Amino acid sequence: MKGKLLIIGFGPGSFEHMTRRAREAIQESEVVIGYNTYVDLISGLLTEQQIVRTGMTEEVSRAQEAVRQANSGKKVAVISSGDAGVYGMAGLVYEVLMEQGWTRSAGVEVEVIPGISALHSAGSLLGAPIMHDACTISLSDHLTPWEFIAKRVEAAGQADFVIALYNPRSGRRTRQIVETQRILLQYRSPDTPVGIVKSAYRDREHVIVTTLSEMLNYEIGMLTTIIIGNSSTKNYDGLMITPRGYQRKYTLGAEIQPLKPHQRLQAEAEPWALAQEEASQVIGESRNTKPLVPALGFDETLQVRPNLHELAVEALQLVSRGKGEESCAAPVQLPAQLQAQTLISAELRAQTQVQSAVTATKSIFEFAVSPGIANKKLSSTQLVALGQILGDRGDMEYTPHHQLIVRIQTENPVEITEELEALGLLLSPIGDLAQIKACDFCNLEKSESIPYAEAIHKRVGNLEVPKELKIGFNGCGMACYGAVQQDIGIVYRKEKFDLFLGGKTVGRNAHPAQPVAEGIEPGEIVELVARIVERYKTEGHPNERFHKFYKRVKEIEGYRHQEAQGFVIENAACGD
Ligand code: SAH
Repeated sequence: MKGKLLIIGFGPGSFEHMTRRAREAIQESEVVIGYNTYVDLISGLLTEQQIVRTGMTEEVSRAQEAVRQANSGKKVAVISSGDAGVYGMAGLVYEVLMEQGWTRSAGVEVEVIPGISALHSAGSLLGAPIMHDACTISLSDHLTPWEFIAKRVEAAGQADFVIALYNPRSGRRTRQIVETQRILLQYRSPDTPVGIVKSAYRDREHVIVTTLSEMLNYEIGMLTTIIIGNSSTKNYDGLMITPRGYQRKYTLGAEIQPLKPHQRLQAEAEPWALAQEEASQVIGESRNTKPLVPALGFDETLQVRPNLHELAVEALQLVSRGKGEESCAAPVQLPAQLQAQTLISAELRAQTQVQSAVTATKSIFEFAVSPGIANKKLSSTQLVALGQILGDRGDMEYTPHHQLIVRIQTENPVEITEELEALGLLLSPIGDLAQIKACDFCNLEKSESIPYAEAIHKRVGNLEVPKELKIGFNGCGMACYGAVQQDIGIVYRKEKFDLFLGGKTVGRNAHPAQPVAEGIEPGEIVELVARIVERYKTEGHPNERFHKFYKRVKEIEGYRHQEAQGFVIENAACGD
């Protein structure tokens, strides 16, 4: 009769945290081989098994003995704490078997039974410190040269892994943990949360949350696992919590996450993801668009239109090269600025001037241009000026929102802004901002309400909001520019204003805004709209459209939300 090797991870040490298969395997075995303390921990499960106890450092002789007994036809349980495959007996037993030329078909049967490793048991007591990419490092240089261990500590520190340190210190090995702290402090803040867990789920369990700089002030021994947080890990109320993702990946507090499944991993939505080369090439081919700015080093032969984030990052690299090493320190800010270069505030003008002066490097300047709030006509002078500015360095796109988006490679955005503004053009930033979409007031003939449209533009136009917000403003009851289709609709009628809220402007289930008030006094309309926009700004979840916000909060300025009537029709994902 062939014997069997049962290599069992019995978890942290408590009965409840042992798997059923681990318990059964111990019970069905004839011989149990393990380190003294471990045999004691599982003694409640033992009946008539032969017990082979050894000292801690006798792993190799334990493995040899297990194989010998199995070869003689016995069912042998080899026990490890935690998981047998993590600094446990599984690998050693296989090594002994390999040495003997064992094969799966001809040799003794081997079953490895998984268990909860200290990484997980200690992690669970600390809160949720792992969550993201993590690694385990054993500081025991009993079987591994210290030089290797130090290299791994260094690499893990550099790569921002959450690190679980096993075997951190023993009576004789005391320097390793000191050295490890020293290495990690080169890469992580002294305030990085650190958890020290002794005897997880055992009698003398003890849990401490401290910091990287303070960790050596606590008792650390062979029954301790230390978990070092990554750069995002927080100490919250004595717990260690590592966020699931890095910046901007989700919105806590929002019931529905900003990114729909089809938007995930798109470069615009998740710029941190590895670019999907093939997919973007197909898009590029079907649109047959030329690279926007070949001078920035994009491969013209690919015929791929680079997205703005990529352009901005590329621009940043050029800028950084111009400025020298230290400018690499703030890589996130600049692309965002470049993407949404607004240049309408004096502050931003100043910033851009400084930027251009320091670097004299070309970057992408992007903005919306229109003839005005009410005026819809571009003069030939304005068109010629725009054409000249664009030359072959940029392009201009006509949007569904009565806007022309200009993108241009330039080293001097301020000059362009001034030139276009001098010609009477209205320049606006683009992005998630409040935008006034006024009608042409019947060729500017019905002009009484224009000052109100302009006042609303001055008050909240270009205000940053959770998601682009279109405020339709129409100068008569005909509302022929579709004010009532917008997020917020304002219609001037009989010297007063009607107000509409929560249009769903896009989608197959688009619907007009809900009429909420008629006959609002002219003296009230600007502030009323401003209050509505301000509330959306402060209470809206990131990326939450205004109609969803209205539905969620149920009431704005005393106007109660009503469900839009009509057919129930599922909305389609972009491109479907
Ligand atoms: N196979 C085990 C690890 C064995 S190495 C596992 O997967 O967990 C021994 C080290 O494991 C100890 O020095 C300690 O760092 C860690 N360890 C094991 N059990 C533990 C427990 N209950 N509490 C804290 N640390 C533990």
